[in-house]
Amino acid sequence: MTKQRWHGGELRQDPLSGDWTVLAPGRAGRPHGTEGLCPFCPGPGEDTPPETWRLHDPDRDGWRVRSVPNRHPLSDRHEVIIESPRHDWDFRTATDTEAEAVLRAWQWRHLALRKNSAQVVIFRNHGAQAGCSRPHPHSQLVGLPVLSTSARRGLELSRDYHRGGERRYSDDQLDIALEMGTRVVLVSPHCVALAPFAPVTAFETHIVPRIARADFAVVPGTELADVARALRRVLHALDEELGDPAYNLVVETAPTGWEQAAFLSWSIRILPRLEIAAGLELATGIPVVTTTPEHVASVLRDRISVRHRA
Ligand SMILES: [Zn+2]
Repeated sequence: MTKQRWHGGELRQDPLSGDWTVLAPGRAGRPHGTEGLCPFCPGPGEDTPPETWRLHDPDRDGWRVRSVPNRHPLSDRHEVIIESPRHDWDFRTATDTEAEAVLRAWQWRHLALRKNSAQVVIFRNHGAQAGCSRPHPHSQLVGLPVLSTSARRGLELSRDYHRGGERRYSDDQLDIALEMGTRVVLVSPHCVALAPFAPVTAFETHIVPRIARADFAVVPGTELADVARALRRVLHALDEELGDPAYNLVVETAPTGWEQAAFLSWSIRILPRLEIAAGLELATGIPVVTTTPEHVASVLRDRISVRHRA
């Protein structure tokens, strides 16, 4: 039986599968309401642990994005990115500069937290059904002392695919998607948004780079700006189609020590939470998804092309 003490709780490993579970009883008491003053809004009610990083706003003598330690941490490297001083800010209605600033924060804090972590997970929960406990726009980074089963499998499978060849798995998948066209949501100079061939949730959408790199944290500025713009457009289209759906957004990037791996590529996964996983999913791990990726791509593509028609 393997278990590790860690900040705020315990990590236990399933003896048969090797899968890890985080036991974090302290998080049961974290707030879920909207009463009182928002601790993330600037002003008299502002109440966060000391800031670890900020991006200054040159126009307003304040901050554009800042990061603070999570008050109810899952690990000793668990930070909250407060994405805007504005309580009602959101990606889908953001300016390109604002959206890019958030992606830049993910990069900076990923670089800062990866030391002594086996992997640093970047995610954004939107809506109560996605586990979001605070309405003020924010995302999170968690440094884990162990590699998750999915990260380890992803590494091994990508390495096996690439072995002896030049092509990444992600390169071939992108080419197939572009050639078929039916799962493509948008094509941008530096990235492509697409519905994955075998999604795990309805309306799952990925943003993948046209030039693959293992490490999201080193994506150069011009590419990052293009990705931020694509992400904003996809989230806006999802909002228009589904009416402010709850979703989890995850940035897939190389685990620590694998940043130079020639067989890996970063990506952003957007996973709307329209349905609750039921018995079959829990019993088998096989998701039941009520839309086809071809349908998803077609409706999102229409939303985006109508909106951005020149
Ligand atoms: Zn607020």
